[in-house]
Parts: sequence; structure tokens; C-alpha cells
Amino acid sequence: MQFTRLRLNGFKSFTDPTDLVIHRGLTGVVGPNGCGKSNLLEALRWVMGENRPTAMRGAGMEDVIFAGTDTRGARHFAEVHLQIDNTDRLAPAAFNDADQLDIVRRITRDAGSAYKINGKEARARDVQMLFADASTGAHSPALVRQGQISELINAKPKARRRILEEAAGISGLYQRRHEAELRLRATEINLERISDVIDQLA
Ligand code: ATP
Repeated sequence: MQFTRLRLNGFKSFTDPTDLVIHRGLTGVVGPNGCGKSNLLEALRWVMGENRPTAMRGAGMEDVIFAGTDTRGARHFAEVHLQIDNTDRLAPAAFNDADQLDIVRRITRDAGSAYKINGKEARARDVQMLFADASTGAHSPALVRQGQISELINAKPKARRRILEEAAGISGLYQRRHEAELRLRATEINLERISDVIDQLA
């Protein structure tokens, strides 16, 4: 699974549609302070399902939409499109028939986020699970934010364990276990209700 292209439109400082072609091997992004290098990394994390505004250096999720400058008006939406080469079939098995994956996330003012995987509408969870199962994603330790190294050094053991679990690719399993436990609890409550009804009828 190889990221091949990141397309930004109205995301943070990227007002106009901008393509970042990612070739195999090492890609370096070089530029003066404030030109948008970190915004590129944030776009990658955002399209993979990041939902914490603080991780996007904003107060609310809509802060990722281009806010306007002296010469250009604010945009109404932001969109990021991540293209992935899956010819090596390293994406989760559900995508085994796809040579390429296209993940699109769009946020519209007052309307929230919408996701698409290969043109089909998807939930945030679907996108997050796709990347979690491939041992990557918005919280992947492979994406290192500014200041993250010093945070890591000062982190509590529990937080460090989470990083190791993500690196080992088991965070998707934790999410599934959590959802299974919630369903189990809901079923137990239903069973209790049914047994109350049966008692009343008896
Ligand atoms: P440095 O090397 O200093 O860390 P950088 O190249 O990583 O800089 P970024 O932090 O990615 O730069 O970009 C910051 C720029 O993005 C700032 O000029 C900021 O005004 C702009 N920016 C961030 N959010 C928005 C937004 N919603 N609308 C317009 N511009 C934005």
C-alpha cells in the first residue's frame, strides 16, 4: 500500500487545488517558515479520519477550511483526496479487487464531514478502520508532529503503550472489541427487559 498522491482543495493555506505527487522512496518537502509544510502532514492525517481539532492546530474542525486573506475570500469547503497504489494488495482484504484506492474527505461549513472510498460514501469509522488494519492512520507513530518527540519523552507509560500497540497494528482490534462490548451490553439490557415482560405475563 503506497501513497501516491495527495490532492488538497481549500484545505488550510491551500486555497487552490494542489497536487502532491508521492513517488516511491523518500519524499522531502522543503520551504520557508509558514509556507504550509505542516499543513500537508495535517491534510494526510485529516483524510485518514483525524477528528481532534487540537491535532489539526485548530479550535474547531471547520478551522481546516481556508479562512481567507486580504486578497482572497474564505472558502466554503475543504477537500483532501488521498490516492493509494494497492497493486501489492497490502490494503485490508475487503479491497483485494482494487488496484487503487481513492479516499476523499470533504468538510462543508455547517454541514460537517463526508467521506468516500473509491467513489462510494463511507463513514469516518470505515476510513479509520481501513488505515488501522493496514497499521497506519491518523494516529500512526509514523506521522510525527512538531513537538511530539518531547511529548513522547514526557509521556506516561500508558500513552507509550498505545504507541507500541499502534505500531504493532492491533489498535483496530481494540476498536472492534470496544464496539463488540457495547453491543453485548445493549443485548444484555434487552434481555433484562424481555425477562421483566415475561415475569409480568406469568
Ligand atoms: P514552519 O516551518 O514555521 O512550521 P510550515 O511550512 O510548516 O511552517 P504551516 O504551519 O504548515 O507552515 O502553515 C502555516 C500557514 O498556514 C500560516 O500562514 C497560516 O496562516 C496558514 N493557515 C493555517 N490554517 C489556515 C486556514 N484555515 N486558512 C488560511 N490559512 C491558514
